[in-house]
Amino acid sequence: MSEHGVRRRVYRPAWAEIDLGALASNVATMAAHVAPAELLAVVKADGYGHAGAVVAERALAAGATRLGVALVEEGLALREAGIVAPILILSEPSPQAMRDAIAAGITPTLYSIDGIISAHNAAMELGEVVGVHLKVDTGMHRVGADPQDTLQLASLINDGDDLRLEGIWTHLAVADNPSDSYTATQVMLFDATLAALESHGVTAPVHHLANSAAAISLSTTHRDWVRCGISLYGYLPSPELAGHLAAPLEPVLSLKAQVTYLRTLEAGERPSYGRIAPLSKDTDVAIVPLGYADGIPRNLGQVGGEVLIRGRRRPIVGNVTMDQIIVDCGSIGEVIVGDEVVLLGRQGTQRIDATEWARLVGTIPYEILCAIGPRVPRVVVETSPIDVADAHG
Ligand SMILES: *Cc1c(COP(=O)(O)O)cnc(C)c1O
Repeated sequence: MSEHGVRRRVYRPAWAEIDLGALASNVATMAAHVAPAELLAVVKADGYGHAGAVVAERALAAGATRLGVALVEEGLALREAGIVAPILILSEPSPQAMRDAIAAGITPTLYSIDGIISAHNAAMELGEVVGVHLKVDTGMHRVGADPQDTLQLASLINDGDDLRLEGIWTHLAVADNPSDSYTATQVMLFDATLAALESHGVTAPVHHLANSAAAISLSTTHRDWVRCGISLYGYLPSPELAGHLAAPLEPVLSLKAQVTYLRTLEAGERPSYGRIAPLSKDTDVAIVPLGYADGIPRNLGQVGGEVLIRGRRRPIVGNVTMDQIIVDCGSIGEVIVGDEVVLLGRQGTQRIDATEWARLVGTIPYEILCAIGPRVPRVVVETSPIDVADAHG
């Protein structure tokens, strides 16, 4: 089993399947939806927990033209994996990291005077003309330049001929909620900022502001590029965004295991830490070798979380522990050691996805996917588009 090219021994029967066929189909759906805008595939956080370099390569093959990452480290890992496509860093690298990023051909985002100076220094040191992007904060209030500072910063970038202002961009805070008018306010402020810069003769060939939510639901935000993450991994940013796309998105990651141990408990027994709930009848419980150290929320059983075994939904009982969960198998003799357990994914006609867990534990599918830990081996599989169509049928 190979992860990032490193062979490692796997004894625990628990793994995540990364379906590159589903990824390619999602990329094609999104690329067609936003065309002629180009699709930048966001592969930060190891591709939202999916194995960054593997999904990056397939996303590029399927129609994405470039990649986005959060950290310089992530960009360098993609370069080390042999990826030569353009990579944009979505935050300003520290002055210490700037030179390594630029030397690796990774495009920095800039929004501070210190950042711009360090980019100038790195470009001069390397003797290259370096493309950079300027980020404007139009209301997310995380990182980015204040709109009134953008002219000064853009002029500083354009001072000398070692940096080239390739892009100007911003990020939307509530595009997953189509009824929130704040998105329109942000888009207006972005356009006003671009117009103000242009009136001073400052332009950039590329503008971008859409994340998956805006790419899906708001075509006015499809500028030169869109930056999509979650949709490529098969999830809508929120249920409110259903109905816009020509084809359904298909979850790329399935989380699976095998039953490692089985025991029969009597009615009234209270499994797991805290002994929170009694079994209503004599029950087989199956032990599944994944726990909160692997990203399963500790309270998933208490809020109604289930797994699939033998094509049926089976409740998690008691608290999820660090390495194992306990599953109520209903009646005695239905399940045997070695049976496949699907925590996320399909089995028979049933399906459990990260949106279901997110709804139960009060978060978003992004957090569920990113939390699936490094202890879980990623296994690459291919589902043909026909299999996906069958599964929908
Ligand atoms: C993570 C991120 C994205 C991707 O957002 P999705 O909702 O996953 O599509 C886009 N742009 C920036 C700046 C990001 O940080």
